[in-house]
Amino acid sequence: MMNSFYRDTWAEIDLDAIYYNVSQLKKLLPDETCIMAVVKANAYGHGDAQVAKTALEAGASYLAVAFLDEALALREKGITAPILVLGASRPSDVHLAAKHKISLTVFQPDWVEQAADLYKGTERVRFHLKMDTGMGRLGVREEAETKRIVELIDGHPYFSLEGVYTHFATADEINTDYFSFQYRRFLQMLEWLPYKPPMIHCGNSATALRFPDKVFNMVRFGISMYGLSPSPAIKPYLPYELKEAFSLHSRLVHVKKLQPGEKVSYGATYTAETEQWIGTVPIGYADGWLRKLQNFHVLVNGKKAPIVGRICMDQLMIRLPEPMPVGTKVTLIGRQGDEYISVDDVAQYLGTINYEVPCTVSYRVPRIFFRNKSIMEVRNVVLNGNDYV
Ligand SMILES: *Cc1c(COP(=O)(O)O)cnc(C)c1O
Repeated sequence: MMNSFYRDTWAEIDLDAIYYNVSQLKKLLPDETCIMAVVKANAYGHGDAQVAKTALEAGASYLAVAFLDEALALREKGITAPILVLGASRPSDVHLAAKHKISLTVFQPDWVEQAADLYKGTERVRFHLKMDTGMGRLGVREEAETKRIVELIDGHPYFSLEGVYTHFATADEINTDYFSFQYRRFLQMLEWLPYKPPMIHCGNSATALRFPDKVFNMVRFGISMYGLSPSPAIKPYLPYELKEAFSLHSRLVHVKKLQPGEKVSYGATYTAETEQWIGTVPIGYADGWLRKLQNFHVLVNGKKAPIVGRICMDQLMIRLPEPMPVGTKVTLIGRQGDEYISVDDVAQYLGTINYEVPCTVSYRVPRIFFRNKSIMEVRNVVLNGNDYV
């Protein structure tokens, strides 16, 4: 059954683009290297289950999320592929991971000891050991703690070490000194292990695309699955042209002519200098179109139109290049004719990274999923919750 929505603001998710980005990576990687599709944060704002299914169809064999709730949500939506929780979980929740066949990240001997005490089940619990090679976030740093964790896992009848991994801090930078340092450190730390677990991984999107021969047997593919470059600096060096999956649209709900001296929005900070046409667009900061985007532009009738006055919680105003009817389509991210606003453009205007932009577009904005160029599904969380129909 298809959800509907009754506001004229929506995001379009091009699952064909996601399929393309994953299948191109699959071609680039050696045959024995698996793709773990990173679908944390509702697939970077795109839609977790829809992206997960598409990535799996395109050749990914594993999924990753940030915390246990996100993994459980995927299971509720009928996703049966293996899932790794990349962040910290509680030792007391290991039974949930076991029941739903979700692998957990470990990096503290005490944690494994507590989990072993608390876990009374007989289903297998799979762990990936995280090594901190220089990211300074999560991970073991010493040989003794590493050996202790492996000992504790191996000593438990239902625990097993499925993987070992690390994360790079600078894989998206042109200068590779720190990347190489971390890579060498990872090789050294792997020597601490009494045996090699089945999965060894270190590559995020930047690493997978730039150094496909340095990723062991699995990559964690996030940002570039969505068609975005891990950084502006490496964009010219990517091995294939990524296709952006996310676009954002609305419609004019009101149009009026202002006289010189008339003002717009809170604080009355914008004054019409001349006679001009102003359109009201039903999207605001509660939708993730942040107040800092004031003076940025949107597209209407294939032309740029500046956002004027303060952005409100649910609405904003634009200066129209010419009078237009109510109902005219407004594109905030995406293409209209020859004009294009990319996620990168929005990120640059906000002084942030592209990752933040689709993540910030909130649950209030319904998502329309396109597959094989036609609408496959509509999700409206405001009206239908996160239930999967
Ligand atoms: C989010 C995340 C990734 C994905 O990184 P991208 O740069 O989006 O490809 C990989 N590994 C870990 C540990 C992460 O947290």
